[in-house]
Amino acid sequence: MSKLIVNSADSSTVFQQELEELINNHRQDANLGKVATYIPELAKSNPKHLGVSIRLLSGEIVEAGDVRVPFTMQSISKVLTLALALMDHGEEYVFKRVGMEPTGDPFNSIVKLETIHPNKPLNPMINAGAIAVSSMIRGNKVEKKLERVLTFIRKLSKNSEISYNEKVAESESKTSDLNRALAYFMREHEVFEGDIEEILEFYFKHCAIEVHCLDLANIGAVFANNGQDVETGETLIPPKIARICKTFMVTCGMYNASGEFAIQAGFPAKSGVSGGILGTVPTKMGIGVLGPSLDDKGNSVAGVKLLESMSDRWNLSIF
Ligand code: GLU
Repeated sequence: MSKLIVNSADSSTVFQQELEELINNHRQDANLGKVATYIPELAKSNPKHLGVSIRLLSGEIVEAGDVRVPFTMQSISKVLTLALALMDHGEEYVFKRVGMEPTGDPFNSIVKLETIHPNKPLNPMINAGAIAVSSMIRGNKVEKKLERVLTFIRKLSKNSEISYNEKVAESESKTSDLNRALAYFMREHEVFEGDIEEILEFYFKHCAIEVHCLDLANIGAVFANNGQDVETGETLIPPKIARICKTFMVTCGMYNASGEFAIQAGFPAKSGVSGGILGTVPTKMGIGVLGPSLDDKGNSVAGVKLLESMSDRWNLSIF
């Protein structure tokens, strides 16, 4: 196991070579999964892509593989909307409406909404919880809420160009009966009130925010730095809120494989059905991965294995 210190041109080259070697070792893992098709537009992704960007807290960037391919955040956006809802309303308000417990069920499951009382969703990382969180983001119109999320994400990622992919948002909106069912069920049980189609339009659009691996690495670096900008030290997310988000990423970020990921890789991460993964290694680095071929839980099959190997190689587990 080598130690991860990049303090000279030489060590930076070694790190780069090691990362490229790991990418090459894991490329064929994509054959073990398939791209998501339930959002028709995502079915067009190339299952063979695999890329990773790392932003160290010391400032350096190290990247390997297909890092120039844009992809939508999907569930990764749930971490950012949660942070924003907590910044908008505080913990008491948010956690009165959404819980803090992992479910062990698939991300789009409806089952616990009916069996658990009160009927609030178990956590903000599953679809039901994220839809409830979407209803909390301040702004009187979808455009206003979306602008706020985009402004927040652009600031964290240091990329002012970030926007959302209209085709992906539309494609999801046309096929999303299950998310509609979750939303109607929750409104009936007073988890939230308001116009369901507007809340869902905002939810689909923030899931369709388009990024590159480096954007996720930069966002992960802010979380790794307790919510502070890595270069300026400015507080972008209050430290307690950054901590809450990272804790949810550990307990629920990798769907119902979060326990296994915590054991094998051991740092906060959030995946999305586009094949993206946002990783954050406290005090060390932010990581952005793309690998659109998914396993049966919805996680990037090659991406997860790559992160596990990186953790092994550089001793990244926080446990
Ligand atoms: N927009 C997706 C959905 O609601 C996000 C799912 C995911 O990435 O887990 O189904």
